[in-house]
Amino acid sequence: MQKDEHGNTPQTVLISRRGADRLRLGHVWVYRSDLIQADGISPGALVTVQDLRKKVLGAALYSTASEIAVRMISSKPVENLEYLVRERIRTAVAYRGRFVQNTNAYRVIFSEGDCLPGLIVDRYNDIVSVQALTQAMDADPMRATVLSELQATLSPTTIVERVDPRVRRLEQLPEKDPAVIFSDAHNSANQPAPSETEESAAPAGVKTTTEFHMNGVRFVFDALAGQKTGAFLDQRENYAAAAQYARGEALDVFCYQGGFALHLARTCEKVTGVDSSRPALEVAEQNAALNGSEIEWIEANAFDLLRDYSDANHKYDCIVLDPPAFAKSRRELPTALRGYKEVNLRALKMLRPGGILVTCSCSYHVSPADLLDVLSSAAQDSHRIIRILENRGQSKDHPSILGIPETAYLKCVVAHVS
Ligand code: SAH
Repeated sequence: MQKDEHGNTPQTVLISRRGADRLRLGHVWVYRSDLIQADGISPGALVTVQDLRKKVLGAALYSTASEIAVRMISSKPVENLEYLVRERIRTAVAYRGRFVQNTNAYRVIFSEGDCLPGLIVDRYNDIVSVQALTQAMDADPMRATVLSELQATLSPTTIVERVDPRVRRLEQLPEKDPAVIFSDAHNSANQPAPSETEESAAPAGVKTTTEFHMNGVRFVFDALAGQKTGAFLDQRENYAAAAQYARGEALDVFCYQGGFALHLARTCEKVTGVDSSRPALEVAEQNAALNGSEIEWIEANAFDLLRDYSDANHKYDCIVLDPPAFAKSRRELPTALRGYKEVNLRALKMLRPGGILVTCSCSYHVSPADLLDVLSSAAQDSHRIIRILENRGQSKDHPSILGIPETAYLKCVVAHVS
């Protein structure tokens, strides 16, 4: 009989036929509405999943709070969870070793994409950031395992924990602030117990800033500031693709810390970046200075700016649109599509003949076909002809698994506009 790390036999969850069918198609989630029997299971527990005929479907991590009650971690029963997690981390690191190029900043672990549901790990040069999105990944023994394996495989100077307050509330996890959870300055030999190091955000002498590079472009990084987990690593390969086609005058809309703009500055004569976040633009300016690039940064609401600029007949040779996720749920899809349509229509009006449009959506609920439909309708309205140069997705360090559609969320269309 299998036992967990405390020597207990994992509890069993019985799931409905619908739930089991979903798993047989390759998905790894079981919704609470598909649980038949899951009494008394503790938050974050390792469980064995069975169908109604008691056939074992594998092992999973359980949440008492989320609508996604069960996240499969293996299609077989798990004897030793710590061993499995360590092995998965080493596999994820090796995958990046094979497929990630021209950078020292990449996603090391992409949750379900790396068969470690609920765990996100990013590396920015010598600093690693970790995010636990589920009860199971937030549990102390799991955290200790993850921390020690990341130290062993990546030898970071510092490991910080990033926090998504919304996700923590959904998982009924206690609130916490981002914090340093490992620093080799203080702990060269032993891995600290998390509680000893989580008290202050950046203890004296701990390195929480660094510099990283991708595609030959340099970036500053502050581990305890910034949206999301710091930079948008999922766009890394799209930055290089955009720069390959762009020339002339370029406009990077929703530019954040300048990811696209800094790359475009290498092939374009003039680059302007627009974002509503002043802190993001301040970092963008530091990045430009670091690369010796001259870029104009404008703090503005992109919807207003695109309207004003297109009304004023401003013209560009390349426009990048990389808005935040307009649809966070399926319910928001119609509103989101109107938002995408508006910005794309404005951009098309401002592109010179032969111009390049790079248009992105990071909403999972907006399918690749939805984005192309929006673009097609904007093309009709603006009497432009669009030729698709590339239909792109997220960088390879954000692996998407066939059978788990949620692991593919980023769309990036590169198009020629005449
Ligand atoms: N292109 C960026 C990532 C963009 S993320 C990169 O590659 O790094 C989305 C950005 O949109 C955020 O920086 C956010 O501050 C900005 N944003 C959100 N709403 C906005 C609005 N209405 N006008 C302008 N910027 C906005």
